Amino acid sequence: MDSPRPDIAALFATMKAGNDARRRRFGLAERRAALDRLADVVRRNEAAIVAALQADLGRPEAEAVLMDYLNILQEIGHARRRLRAWMKPRRVWPTLATFGASARIEPQPRGTCLIIAPWNLPFHLALGPLASCLAAGNAAIVKPSELTPASSTLIARMIAECFPPDLVAVVEGDKAEAEALLALPFDHIFFTGSPAVGRIVMAAAAKTLASVTLELGGKSPVIVGPGANLKQAADWITFGKFLNAGQNCISPDHLYVHASVKDAFLEVLRERIARAYGGGEASPHLTRIVSPSHAARLSALIADGLAKGAVPLLAAGQSGQAVGPHLVEGTTPDMRLSQEEIFGPILPVLAYDRIDEVIEAINAQDKPLALYIFDRDHTRVEEITRRTTSGAVGVNLTLVHYTHLNLPFGGVNTSGIGAAHGQAGFRAFSHERAVMRNRFLLLPLIFPPYSPRVMRLIDLIKRVLG
Ligand code: NAD
Repeated sequence: MDSPRPDIAALFATMKAGNDARRRRFGLAERRAALDRLADVVRRNEAAIVAALQADLGRPEAEAVLMDYLNILQEIGHARRRLRAWMKPRRVWPTLATFGASARIEPQPRGTCLIIAPWNLPFHLALGPLASCLAAGNAAIVKPSELTPASSTLIARMIAECFPPDLVAVVEGDKAEAEALLALPFDHIFFTGSPAVGRIVMAAAAKTLASVTLELGGKSPVIVGPGANLKQAADWITFGKFLNAGQNCISPDHLYVHASVKDAFLEVLRERIARAYGGGEASPHLTRIVSPSHAARLSALIADGLAKGAVPLLAAGQSGQAVGPHLVEGTTPDMRLSQEEIFGPILPVLAYDRIDEVIEAINAQDKPLALYIFDRDHTRVEEITRRTTSGAVGVNLTLVHYTHLNLPFGGVNTSGIGAAHGQAGFRAFSHERAVMRNRFLLLPLIFPPYSPRVMRLIDLIKRVLG
């Protein structure tokens, strides 16, 4: 253990020393009690959570409640209700070769886990994984993002209120603290953040061979096909793109619209955006961009696009960290808008004639975290789904698959490794241990020495199994 921070290393050592005791005593009742304590502290702090999100991100109360507060309570409630079934060992049938043994798969806590969270849903992305982690019977150190300090401080206070530091502890800080944590031999690392930092986390995990769950991001495309209900598509794309000012890992990043419906769709979309965010960047319904440098990056993306020939279709203004909805047409692969995850309220619009062009473009890029398709033609939707890959596919909707706790939530390769939410979250924090018990295994009949009788038996087995 050579973390540059002795205080963090000591905290980790205490937690790790408790692994054995937790295996013995952290059963169903204790885990449910831990989840109840977490739910209770979240409920008692609802107003404080809304205030912290307002301070950090200028987030409207509706979005704070829907995205952070309720998502955590949903995750906790779902885990609490299903926990008994999830924890139950699953018996498996013997195979021909193992006839005479009983076998089961037993979910076991991984041990001491590290949860690193980003800033865009500061509460849900720290405490949601924590709920899965506790449900699976582990201890955890949580590191929230330094970019949302009010939320981070509140998370630390809430956790200190309801858990002993050898079960759950919060380490606040930035890259330096994250690196000090990553130097320690955690049993599992659950990271949510950018693909770039995901690579650093995986490289650090390689040193100790800690298992990892990486919840990353990328450029999630949305397709509006010739058979789309244009009003429905405009409603959902406005919601999906501008909720949290587009700062969601699964926000539609760029839009492909069929040339035959492009003009009609853009008219409906502009109207829908105006109805939701009439005041442009000053709209009280729009979340702020997290920091001045993040807002400057968005301005630079637009400026780069315009300088290289992109055309603005809607520019609802920018004032500091308040950035209104933007639509841009004519983006080309050499523009930063086409290369970087946008993570803001800017939507490039690309017209297409043949779906093959779109599928080729999607498959040429990193595998997205989400792919959205608007079309009433089932065959077309199925074709796009079959010929592409992504963490998830949303048909005639955006974002809400995130809240479906019976679906795994995760990416593929650059958009993520492993999955979270519901039972997938429980499994991420569990080791599926194989347990096999000898009842009347006949295998000793073929143990050495390999006499002619044993060889005849092996011959017989070969004929049955081979
Ligand atoms: P980020 O990768 O910059 O930071 C995430 C966390 O990593 C923070 O806690 C940060 O302090 C820490 N960190 C930063 N540098 C580090 C380093 N060198 N070593 C170790 N840790 C380090 O991400 P962000 O800007 O906070 O969040 C935005 C990104 O997260 C986007 O790419 C988005 O798509 C992604 N995201 C993914 C999901 C998901 O569930 N898949 C959810 C939200 C956000």
